[in-house]
Amino acid sequence: MLSYWEKSALLSYEFVVIGGGIVGCFAALSYRAKHPSARIALIERGILPSGASTKNAGFACFGSISELQDDLNDFTLDELVALTEKRFMGINHMRSTLGDKAIGYEHSKGYELSFNSVDPEQLSFFNEALKPIFKGEPFSDCTGDLSHFGFGSSVKGLIAHAYEGSIHTGKMISALYQLLGEQGVRCFTGCTLKQFEEKGAEVILEVHSSQQQLSLSAKKVAFCTNAFSQDLLPDLKIVPGRGLVLITKEIEDLNLSGCFHYNSGYNYFRPIDKRIMLGGARHLDKAGEQTAEFGINERLKTSLVADLSALILPNKPVEVDYFWSGIMAFGANKHPILKRVSERIAVAARLGGMGVAVGPLLGKEVAELLES
Ligand SMILES: Cc1cc2nc3c(=O)[nH]c(=O)nc-3n(C[C@H](O)[C@H](O)[C@H](O)COP(=O)(O)OP(=O)(O)OC[C@H]3O[C@@H](n4cnc5c(N)ncnc54)[C@H](O)[C@@H]3O)c2cc1C
Repeated sequence: MLSYWEKSALLSYEFVVIGGGIVGCFAALSYRAKHPSARIALIERGILPSGASTKNAGFACFGSISELQDDLNDFTLDELVALTEKRFMGINHMRSTLGDKAIGYEHSKGYELSFNSVDPEQLSFFNEALKPIFKGEPFSDCTGDLSHFGFGSSVKGLIAHAYEGSIHTGKMISALYQLLGEQGVRCFTGCTLKQFEEKGAEVILEVHSSQQQLSLSAKKVAFCTNAFSQDLLPDLKIVPGRGLVLITKEIEDLNLSGCFHYNSGYNYFRPIDKRIMLGGARHLDKAGEQTAEFGINERLKTSLVADLSALILPNKPVEVDYFWSGIMAFGANKHPILKRVSERIAVAARLGGMGVAVGPLLGKEVAELLES
């Protein structure tokens, strides 16, 4: 039986966010910015966020040339430029909200490893299209510097992206939750929204933890549950996609700086704390990785380990420390879902593989959508 105090002060909120990843946290912070005294809550099923936001590779990236080229099969150039702008604005929003130090932001530059020689016309085409966003040309051919990097002989070209960088994902999430606390957002972690129902002017939320089952009420609800959204909103068109990452043990004399991509963005690696973090290869078994269950795909694991010694650090003994996986959300194209489900409910989900970049802005947008 609930106490009078619980009933009168802890169960009813003006704005409730479901899902405590990047999007959910930014949605709560954005609502707070416009409503200094509103009662705001965030409900996250994990003790830590349990989807993609604590599992990603922390690239503050905007699309490598081969990835952008592939995207032109699904998008017009104008749509692609608009999406790139959202990624850039999202990273800027994260940096200005949390501060570079708190998120471990490093402006380390991005590089794409190419297995063919670089096409100067392709470079000019994308530079021309994206220059207005970055206020400068993002891409340059630095194949001449390849020997400094010491990659395997299959790498024939190297394209730099002047505006890419990286964050420390753990520090970023930690900074977000610290700010949520400071801003008076009540975070219920380890609590799953099981079902919801709109009743008059309120949404009733059935929330379960291992200890308790409670009904909370909210005037407005933002679903920021990404790959898991269909459990609650079955009409959404979302396909889950698992991503695999490995981290090596410390490597002596590791002298590499930057964020690297290859295979149209499906593979990515970067140095961190004298180790190499390497992830991706989902394209090798898309069907097998179409799952919302965490786990390690042996085929992808083998491919990543082979790339480590053949492509990234040939001639250097390297030991893998461990692997982890995270769950992303995909759809027919790379547009995220941002929509109202009803007068009181909206959803922001399906962030794909670049939600570190798009997520902060999408969180802000879903909070604004519920204002209108
Ligand atoms: C391996 C990997 C590498 C990546 N690398 C990069 C990168 O380098 N750069 C980049 O830009 N992007 C990257 N991404 C993508 C990026 O991490 C995601 O797009 C982004 O984190 C999505 O954020 P989100 O808040 O929408 O979703 P999530 O982080 O998945 O958050 C959704 C949350 O909702 C919670 N939830 C679900 N259902 C319920 C419920 N019923 N009740 C309560 N809570 C619920 C989940 O536990 C989860 O924490 C990567 C992703 C992966 C998996």
